[in-house]
Amino acid sequence: MILQVEVRGIFATNCYFYIDDATKHGFLIDPGAEADKLLKIIEREGFTIEKILLTHGHFDHIGAVNEIQSKFGIEVCMQGNGRDYVENPAWNLSAYFNLNMKLDDVTYIEDFSKIILSANRNFGLKMIPLAGHTTDSAIFYSKNDSVAFVGDSIFLNSIGRTDFPGGDEITLRKNLRDKIFTLSNDTILLSGHSEPTSVANERKLLMI
Ligand SMILES: [Zn+2]
Repeated sequence: MILQVEVRGIFATNCYFYIDDATKHGFLIDPGAEADKLLKIIEREGFTIEKILLTHGHFDHIGAVNEIQSKFGIEVCMQGNGRDYVENPAWNLSAYFNLNMKLDDVTYIEDFSKIILSANRNFGLKMIPLAGHTTDSAIFYSKNDSVAFVGDSIFLNSIGRTDFPGGDEITLRKNLRDKIFTLSNDTILLSGHSEPTSVANERKLLMI
């Protein structure tokens, strides 16, 4: 089951529950704000969140992490370059809004590693590094469910901004070609700030 929830801080961000139907255990991806709202959903639905996964360290994707992590004592996982963002309010952009957002208990996972649910070893996501929007951007991909959680790398009918610290448009376009457009056409792309799209739809627009 995938549950998309829009949370609102300074910006609105899509965060996602990726939950195994059989066990109701799963992952929470990019809890960007409104920890209370997310905690209520977890309680109401009876979810057990085993890990928080971050597509990158921008403040609008990490704003509710500390509160949810401390409530459940769970691991927060992200790509290795994430330290440059989550420990630095200038790089995670919170400093520009007079916030001083930092995470201090993060597991930096190996590129291309599989994140497996302990309650169901057949349920998991693969982390694929996808620098460009930021140096720490990654997508979380399930071949079984034909879905990828893509953060701010690609949106419905557009691609991510590259004018923030660590951003690079040439790198982003190359990585989209190599790592997203090589997924099957029917793969659904769930982004941080748009309606869902698919590999087929975005390839039509961008592979000209
Ligand atoms: Zn971002």
